[in-house]
Amino acid sequence: MALTGFLVRGLHCYRKNSCLKTNSVCFLQTFSPIFQLEEYGKLLSGSDIAEKIQTSLCDQVQKFKLHHSCFTPQLAIVQVGARKDSNTYIRMKMKAAETIGIIATHFCLPSTTNQTELLKTISHLNLNPSVHGIIVQMPLDSANMIDSTLITDSVIPNKDVDGLNTINQGKLAVGDLASGFLPCTPNGCIELIRRTGILIEGSKAVVVGRSKIVGTPTAELLKWHNATVTICHSKTKNLPEVIADADILVVGIGQPNMVKGDWIKPGAVVIDCGINSLPDTKSSTGYRLVGDVDFEKARKRASWITPVPGGVGPMTVTMLMKNTVLAALKSTLGNKV
Ligand code: NAP
Repeated sequence: MALTGFLVRGLHCYRKNSCLKTNSVCFLQTFSPIFQLEEYGKLLSGSDIAEKIQTSLCDQVQKFKLHHSCFTPQLAIVQVGARKDSNTYIRMKMKAAETIGIIATHFCLPSTTNQTELLKTISHLNLNPSVHGIIVQMPLDSANMIDSTLITDSVIPNKDVDGLNTINQGKLAVGDLASGFLPCTPNGCIELIRRTGILIEGSKAVVVGRSKIVGTPTAELLKWHNATVTICHSKTKNLPEVIADADILVVGIGQPNMVKGDWIKPGAVVIDCGINSLPDTKSSTGYRLVGDVDFEKARKRASWITPVPGGVGPMTVTMLMKNTVLAALKSTLGNKV
């Protein structure tokens, strides 16, 4: 069934005038999933794609250094408190930065930090010309009330490599995908979808979840890639019926295995952003990570599906690195980037 879907889409694309101009590229992009089915068994590995992108970012930094010897992208990671999951994510970010040649500095503030103190730290980093990118690890683990939107908005837009500042989110909402920074998880989702070879333009996309960090910006990005987008949330009625119509399904709800395999349209591309921890006595850690989609059943229907872990997570980290390199290039070259 999935194979038939790709063949039909491929022939449709091949017949279109726009594609005739770039026949071979379009043909390969459209049919590549067929050839990859055998090789990857429908698994859309974020880990593999992230590794390739990180290698190319490393090359880009090295090449740029040949003409600008002082060029070294710098990322500041600000953390309040010491949540275990945040510590893990920060370790992954620091490791990726090192691989690429980015200097990442971890500013670890105690959980007693208040809003004024956190704003002061961000202000110093905003003013430091050697810092190109700033992220504040969310959620904040503070004993004090801190307004997280005020915090993300206090990072100046040209250092907002998380793409969470209202100015950068506004640019995305109106279709300016070039002058600001795209948020990392949504941008990672788009990159994953692109790598399947499916044509986003004209497809029906369903995004489940409407958070500021995942669902809403992913829907915006899909819209500006010319998909027809439906956004679902906790008040959506008949969720299985809405999902059944999706050529591209992106889920980010934080509900383990909630989206069932038989809801999925045969041949759909499924991107699972969820990261949920379930108790598991067989695991040495005592838990295992699962997504928001019932993976084992869904992979029997989907043409491509991301695993958890190893799907969207590594792409989020990599898109952060991509934004940091971009921020450093912009700071060196100005508007020429
Ligand atoms: P969030 O802020 O809690 O938002 C959850 C969204 O899901 C809300 O829009 C909510 O609807 C919707 N929702 C919840 N239950 C639902 C249901 N039963 N049916 C339909 N919609 C439902 O969470 P988030 O920050 O977006 O994160 C979502 C998941 O992605 C989490 O598992 C998180 O760990 C993961 N995540 C992963 C990455 C990564 O790099 N892989 C990055 C960020 C987040 P309402 O708006 O109506 O409440």
